[in-house]
Amino acid sequence: MNTVGFNTLYHALKCPYCGSAVDSGIGFRAGALKQASYRMGDKLSWEGGNCRPEEKPAGGNFKTIGYYNCDNLNCTSWHDCFPEVQEAIITFTDDVIVEVQSIQHPAREQGFDILPP
Ligand SMILES: [Zn+2]
Repeated sequence: MNTVGFNTLYHALKCPYCGSAVDSGIGFRAGALKQASYRMGDKLSWEGGNCRPEEKPAGGNFKTIGYYNCDNLNCTSWHDCFPEVQEAIITFTDDVIVEVQSIQHPAREQGFDILPP
């Protein structure tokens, strides 16, 4: 079953709209999905049964899309009391989190995409 669970990456990311630090973390769905907390440089765990994708990408090299919200209530990304969901690409090399980049494009379905390296 790959339908539930996620992990959170805590990284010194700045909101692209207001420049505030993002404290809430970036939710992503890769590796063992067990509500684990990660930081840049950490190695992704595949122990725990509920993994996404089920087969670990070759060499642990891949990218995935994660999602975060700005925590600043006065940010322009907030509309009607809800923050717009923002996206970041997380890059793994040999399962280690080596890069996090905020990306901006029109809103779309949250697919937690797994991408080739
Ligand atoms: Zn913001």
